Amino acid sequence: MKRQQIVAGNWKMNKDYEEGRDLTKGIVDAMQPSDTLVILGTPYIHLMNVSRIIKDISNVHLAAQNCHQEESGAYTGEVSAPMLKSCGVGYVILGHSERRAYFHEDDELIAKKVDAVLANGMQPIYCCGEPLEVREDGKQNELVAEQVKTALFHLSKEDFSKIVIAYEPVWAIGTGKTASPEQAQEMHAHIRKLVREQYDDATADGLSILYGGSVKPGNAKELFSQEDVDGGLIGGASLKAKDFVAIVNSF
Ligand code: PEP
Repeated sequence: MKRQQIVAGNWKMNKDYEEGRDLTKGIVDAMQPSDTLVILGTPYIHLMNVSRIIKDISNVHLAAQNCHQEESGAYTGEVSAPMLKSCGVGYVILGHSERRAYFHEDDELIAKKVDAVLANGMQPIYCCGEPLEVREDGKQNELVAEQVKTALFHLSKEDFSKIVIAYEPVWAIGTGKTASPEQAQEMHAHIRKLVREQYDDATADGLSILYGGSVKPGNAKELFSQEDVDGGLIGGASLKAKDFVAIVNSF
């Protein structure tokens, strides 16, 4: 079964309004037609404008980097799933390790956000991954299994089929240290096996699992050539159009 190949950018808290417009135009202008799904994960302020710039390009989609679990209400400073949907957002990155570390998000909360995103017709990009000390203890498979089960395994098969998973070892994010292609493959195969056991072959074989953690033009090709690596979630290298497009072209 051919799975959807995806390269998603996570701009994090970078780029003012004009810089975001220029980056989006730079990416769109440099892209060649391809079957790879390209997702731009921008701060909220860019969503409407990026949505307008990419509207006629069928393989380029828009992601938010978070959303609140409630539909509306007295949650000053927050943004809900229906609001994102109204801006043309198709995907929402949830459970990024920076949100877990700095905003104390755990998998019980992330499960509610997953439900809110699905209920509003968008697709979660669910991030999981172990910190360095867990890898050093050799307990990464157990931890990632726990994350995936708590955040996602309450879903029906139909809802689960809309999920994208990003495996992002915390020790590789923004550090310049990349997991080896073998380490990435091993964890992706582990995640796919968990999904096969919980759901079925078609669900497991259809799930796109992205690798994230210091992916660059120089290492993307080898990572993406692994059997269970279906693309990448790209932080730092998504901030330069040339690098991001080079990563998209690595397939
Ligand atoms: C990320 O933030 O999801 C990420 C993978 O960052 P970087 O590519 O900079 O390591």
